[in-house]
Amino acid sequence: MKIPSVKGFHDVLPDETVRWASLEASAREVFARYNFREIRPPIVERTDLFRRSIGETTDIVEKEMYTFEDRDGTPLTLRPEGTASVVRAYVEHAMHAKEPVSKLFYLGPMFRRERPQRGRLRQFSQIGVEVLGRDDAAADAEVLLLLYDLLSAFAIEGAEVQINSLGCRRCRPAYREALVAWGRSKLDQLCDDCRRRIEQNPMRLLDCKQPGCIALRDGAPRMIDHYDEECRAHFERVRELLEAQGIRPHLQPYMVRGLDYYCRTAFEVLAPGLGAQNAIGGGGRYDGLVRDLGGPDVAGIGFALGMERLAIVLAERPAPAAAPEFVIAPLGSAAETRAVGMARRWRHAGARVEVESGGRSLKSQMRHADKLGARYVLILGEEEMAEGALTVRDMQARLDRRGAVEIDASIDELRAALVSGGASSVERQA
Ligand code: AMP
Repeated sequence: MKIPSVKGFHDVLPDETVRWASLEASAREVFARYNFREIRPPIVERTDLFRRSIGETTDIVEKEMYTFEDRDGTPLTLRPEGTASVVRAYVEHAMHAKEPVSKLFYLGPMFRRERPQRGRLRQFSQIGVEVLGRDDAAADAEVLLLLYDLLSAFAIEGAEVQINSLGCRRCRPAYREALVAWGRSKLDQLCDDCRRRIEQNPMRLLDCKQPGCIALRDGAPRMIDHYDEECRAHFERVRELLEAQGIRPHLQPYMVRGLDYYCRTAFEVLAPGLGAQNAIGGGGRYDGLVRDLGGPDVAGIGFALGMERLAIVLAERPAPAAAPEFVIAPLGSAAETRAVGMARRWRHAGARVEVESGGRSLKSQMRHADKLGARYVLILGEEEMAEGALTVRDMQARLDRRGAVEIDASIDELRAALVSGGASSVERQA
């Protein structure tokens, strides 16, 4: 009986993992240049961590968390996002006492029980960064420049970064009032969730995914008309710093993000070709979060990109090739023993080598080598064993070269022989 995978939980197969590995490698390179260091928090946290940080009345906490009781009754949750865990670790290990600014990145799976569709899974992977310990606009600009550099390192074309400022604890209450008043005036047109959230969390009205609510939104009050002097200056400075680099994110006054902890600068990255799930990443500032989670009053800002959506955007381009450098084709068991040793020696020297099974015919070994995409096959039959030299088949040129290179050749000698020819006799294959 076959046991299928769980809905919304996907395998990433070898053709795709090659792409993922190359995305991760590019990301690590960019992070290093910006002096970010990796953190690996666990996948399971206490449920309270997410309730308190993401917010009780968000979609994630209300409907999407994978929560279960540990055997001792402790409520645990599979992390739905990375920031809460990173901040928990930052507080737990008193990182603020060790370094004035922490620049961290993470890679790994997140879990949300959403309705699966293209680009929306229940287990998905994020690449994310967090800067803790800086509340100045230059930190926001650096994080955004890092985001732009990542997108160009990944060769994502046509992405649009949208930006907004969500104000702060001082100026948001007045905006909240204005939103509540607006929501009440539209009560009969809002969806059930929004009606319920008007009093508890009116910012969520702007984030609702129901078409009716989206259509209403353009008439809603805007945070941009309610900033206090400091929030206005901060937002202007962020945009000025980016502008000086020729970068102008698109101002989107109703973008609030789906989590409650954001304040001031917030942003999202949209990419073409993804349909309804067109956000490949998002982030923002969360200055009160470290304190809310029991730490000192330390500011923070970060973002996360979704790996699956990046992979979809890049899907039309071929994944980096993963063919072996050459394949060894032994004929018979004595040759097979020898081939295993040759492969091991050349692998230790850094080559990517495949060895066929000596029990199969040359024809079937060749067919397999062709499937692997190998350019060269090193044939080791009875005659080659006797002569101590290999026949090299160039799969592209369809040429056999008898005695092309010695069985005991070093990897450098072998590589030189493969490219230069150097054959004693050459036969053209049919
Ligand atoms: P968020 O924390 O919701 O802003 O998510 C940041 C990014 O993670 C999104 O822009 C997506 O690229 C990715 N993401 C979020 N939820 C999912 C999901 N259910 N399936 C796949 N990717 C997701």
